[in-house]
Amino acid sequence: MSQVRRIWVTEIHNVGGFFAGETITLSATPWPDGEELMVTIDEKALDNIRARHLILPEMLLELELSGERVDRARLLASRDRAALNEALRDTPPAQLDAPRIRAYRCPHCDVWVVGSPLQEQGARACALCRQVLD
Ligand SMILES: [Zn+2]
Repeated sequence: MSQVRRIWVTEIHNVGGFFAGETITLSATPWPDGEELMVTIDEKALDNIRARHLILPEMLLELELSGERVDRARLLASRDRAALNEALRDTPPAQLDAPRIRAYRCPHCDVWVVGSPLQEQGARACALCRQVLD
């Protein structure tokens, strides 16, 4: 049984190299709140993230866990837009003609959120907190 958990990265401890393997070890708190925990993520588990060293503090990740093991890590949001753009996998150039919202800012969450906002009764709402934007 896999379990989905959202975590807010607070500190990067180690970006594993030759000896430690292709992993990143970090501290994070459950989103929106909870006790700080330590997580190790394998490079192979990265979903929409280009490389593990681009994961930084103040990023929101969604993890799929099998027990303690992270099967999949997806970047959901970041406080810093430049860091978010840098970490996200590049969109293939063929798709550049079709403009697509890559991220939007939610003032309630105080982060840049990956993807497009929800459309709810004609209003744009944040996919994380469901508050109306604008
Ligand atoms: Zn929000």
